[in-house]
Amino acid sequence: MKIIIIGNGIAANSAATVIREHDRESNITMLSDENQFFYARPRLTEFISGKTAFEKILIHDEAWYKKNNIELLKGLSVSSIDTEHQVLYGSFGSLSYDELLIASGASPSFPPFYRPQLEKVYALRTKEQADHIIATAQHSESAAIIGGGLLGIDTAFALVERGMDTTIIEFYGWLLPKQLDQDSAAILRDLLSQKRLKFLFGKQTASISNEKNGLTLAFADGTSILADMAIISAGVRSNIAFLKGTKVATGRGITIDHQMRTNVPHIYAAGDCSEFEGKMYGVWSAAKEQGEIAGLAMIGQDVDYQGSVIGARIKAAGIDVASIGDFSMTPSTTVEVFHEKDIFKKYFREGNKLKGAILIGDTSDYFKLQKEIAG
Ligand SMILES: Cc1cc2nc3c(=O)[nH]c(=O)nc-3n(C[C@H](O)[C@H](O)[C@H](O)COP(=O)(O)OP(=O)(O)OC[C@H]3O[C@@H](n4cnc5c(N)ncnc54)[C@H](O)[C@@H]3O)c2cc1C
Repeated sequence: MKIIIIGNGIAANSAATVIREHDRESNITMLSDENQFFYARPRLTEFISGKTAFEKILIHDEAWYKKNNIELLKGLSVSSIDTEHQVLYGSFGSLSYDELLIASGASPSFPPFYRPQLEKVYALRTKEQADHIIATAQHSESAAIIGGGLLGIDTAFALVERGMDTTIIEFYGWLLPKQLDQDSAAILRDLLSQKRLKFLFGKQTASISNEKNGLTLAFADGTSILADMAIISAGVRSNIAFLKGTKVATGRGITIDHQMRTNVPHIYAAGDCSEFEGKMYGVWSAAKEQGEIAGLAMIGQDVDYQGSVIGARIKAAGIDVASIGDFSMTPSTTVEVFHEKDIFKKYFREGNKLKGAILIGDTSDYFKLQKEIAG
């Protein structure tokens, strides 16, 4: 059997790993438009901080692909698929497949004010983008990070660690609006402020312009700030352009079922490019889980994906933060809060059932709570 996997991230590598555990015979080819071996994408911020060499965040080296008899085609891009004849086209020419996994991930999405010709304005998703950020940071003193989400905070702290004066600009009134409620976010903001991070809340960026003395970021309320460089961290969009003209069903991502199958025979999808029951997880753990399920399904194993528990665990400025499950308030939701010094824990229950939790300062219970919420 000839298996092709588009991608070389966590979803792709999890799939390849489980396939090889059960099947030594099939040909596996992985294709990536990045020029790297598999690395820990979330750790790109450590690389930017200057504290960790890129080699330290590599997960699979060349020997891994060799040992597992997997052909990795790096720096090559898929541009279209003929789903009827089961052929991929791209900068490599053409490749035919028996089973195809699309694990093409996502790319930064840019707000309407962004113009590609802007200088010293970046987004972070790949090693190549990290290299550009580092090159500019070496000659800069201040930075503005547009977006106070998971990635924005992490990137901002990496620049603070480089000694830069860094301000996070957030549209909402609090940090991590997807992961934290306002009370928890206020605790985190205070802890991060002690670590030299600065914030501007409730600001909608209207424009960025290159001026003689740096960048000017103008906001919808008429105010503005100056910075030497800016990083846009305003969400992602799935990499699915190469599916244009095919019958593969997509919404915001590729629509998948409980076996990670798309609606087109022999094509599966997993990770940040996929959408399961309307959900786009956009996190490492879900991409890993989906990759594993996809790999098993592709070799005919009986699997049944029921969705991943929505959760995120980050370390920002040395502060552990995790949010798991659902923390929406209904009339019957009960909340329990524990707060002592730098440790904050908030649990959300519906009856006796734990449905969500927010942890700041100590996330050691993350996996235990994740299981309890899922169970
Ligand atoms: C800086 C940073 C920090 C993060 N921090 C966290 C965190 O703390 N916690 C967390 O849970 N998540 C975090 N994330 C998100 C997490 O990294 C992603 O959810 C995860 O990497 C998704 O994996 P994936 O395999 O689906 O896609 P990706 O890792 O995006 O991999 C996609 C692959 O597809 C390839 N590809 C795409 N299009 C094509 C094409 N046309 N042709 C050929 N190849 C193609 C790419 O080269 C790449 O190899 C972070 C992300 C970033 C960028």
